[in-house]
Amino acid sequence: MNLLIIRILIFAVLFYAGLKLFSMYRQWKHERLTQQQQDQQHDGGHMVRCRWCEVHLPEEEALREAEQWFCSSAHRDRFLQEQQHDNDAEQ
Ligand SMILES: [Zn+2]
Repeated sequence: MNLLIIRILIFAVLFYAGLKLFSMYRQWKHERLTQQQQDQQHDGGHMVRCRWCEVHLPEEEALREAEQWFCSSAHRDRFLQEQQHDNDAEQ
């Protein structure tokens, strides 16, 4: 009985370590990818920053609205919604 518990414990630890390593690997891969993308973008045209998530992207891929840049229509809409909320609060 004790042996079974020890086996289960060892298995659980191994499983946890495997998951941890896998997520670390994914994180590392993701960071490398974004780093590469940033390096590529540095060679390109003018960079702008999304007003909502502060991500940098080339000007030709960005959306412009109310003197602000956005990476996507979703972020533009969310920013405009937030502004609307602020206006409502003030009035
Ligand atoms: Zn964004």
